[in-house]
Amino acid sequence: MVAPGRSVAERDCGHAGLFVMHRRQFTGHLAAALAGGALLPRQPFAGSLRAPARLPDLSGERLNGHIKALAEFGANPQGGVSRVAYSDWDKAGRAHVTQLMRLANLEVSVDIAGNIWGRRAGTDPNLKPLVFGSHIDSVPNGGNYDGTVGSLSSIEVAHALAEQNIRTRHPIEVVIWANEEGGLFGSRAVSGQLKADELSKVSWSGKTIAQGMDFLGGYSFHMDNAARKRGDIAAYIELHIEQGGTLERDKVDIGVVQGIVGIHRWDVTITGVQNHAGTTPMDQRHDAMLSGARFVEMVNRVVRAEPGRQVGTVGRLEAFPGAPNVIPGKVVCILEMRDLDAAKIARLHTMIMAEALKIGQMNGTSFSFEKVHEDVAAMSDSGIRRVIDAAAKELKLSTREMPSGAGHDAQSMAMLGPMGMIFIPSIGGISHSPKEFSKPEDIERGARVLMGAVLAADKIA
Ligand SMILES: [Zn+2]
Repeated sequence: MVAPGRSVAERDCGHAGLFVMHRRQFTGHLAAALAGGALLPRQPFAGSLRAPARLPDLSGERLNGHIKALAEFGANPQGGVSRVAYSDWDKAGRAHVTQLMRLANLEVSVDIAGNIWGRRAGTDPNLKPLVFGSHIDSVPNGGNYDGTVGSLSSIEVAHALAEQNIRTRHPIEVVIWANEEGGLFGSRAVSGQLKADELSKVSWSGKTIAQGMDFLGGYSFHMDNAARKRGDIAAYIELHIEQGGTLERDKVDIGVVQGIVGIHRWDVTITGVQNHAGTTPMDQRHDAMLSGARFVEMVNRVVRAEPGRQVGTVGRLEAFPGAPNVIPGKVVCILEMRDLDAAKIARLHTMIMAEALKIGQMNGTSFSFEKVHEDVAAMSDSGIRRVIDAAAKELKLSTREMPSGAGHDAQSMAMLGPMGMIFIPSIGGISHSPKEFSKPEDIERGARVLMGAVLAADKIA
């Protein structure tokens, strides 16, 4: 999804200073901890899913049971859930999850935007919180794993630590975001990116954003006070399903997310000459639709011409006047490109414009591009990536660094402090569908990596 957020200029400025310093400190401490071997146990352990002696245990059975139970809230006939944000099912699911948080010995509160926070104090009152969590709202006719895996795994980690009387130095905060699928509304409120005029937008539930937040126990009237400040958190870690098929295809257990890709969109207008489809000879046409077809093919070719994870899509194309007996005089389409590297997007876009000029010259049509949307990429913190990778390796799990092609609440939290994400395989790469599936053992592995990463970050952040 797209999170409109602040303008590029706003987002780019002010990152220096506190944030960068914090990040450097974090990385430095990590390096020291790694060098000192203080992170995680070194001795081998039996069984791929059994925790090593010094890493606390958690219950995969309880976790997967909780995932099954939450699937009852808004269950649809296709086997998934329709638990859109601010709906009755969303509210009921959140009440259920609140109980699980209390059972995990977390002190629960709901913030202005309707996000649920479960907090437990650390041993050092001077430290900022380690935050981890995800969302439980779904798209209409969605599945049982997107958001749910990370939310319930986070609660399981907190539960397991409480059961084993393990106190962290930092306070821990488990967060269940509100309305992730509609556009990261809960997390953008917390990161200060939500604009006042967005509160009147109508969500899938039929309620406006403001009504929805209030419905969940928030207080939209005081949205001005919802944001936390940069540096208010020690770190944010989110476990999520990959929503793509590469981990499963390549038999990799854990994805270590490099960042959440930037999203760039252009309105593309192709202008030709509208004329009679019966009387205009084929060699005398300035057919905007023909140029549009060539454009779609060319975008695919240019984006694929070099290695990397960049993607380019023409997801909408409209011909005018759109009649069977008229050669289209105008075509309007949308070009979307995503990658972690904005410079790469800019370079590919320049190539696309040059190729479009050639296409236009073939039949006397012209192209114009107008940039209509830009979400800058949100990079994960290198220190957090290393603790995630180390936690996975200790569990004898294979890892791969990868971008996230989808938006996540983690991109909002990257505005506040060091961020990292853990991906587990999505079977068949399917998501936003009742067919979405992740194996119980993969979910348990993900939760164990989350626990290891949280505990390692607690030592060093
Ligand atoms: Zn999600």
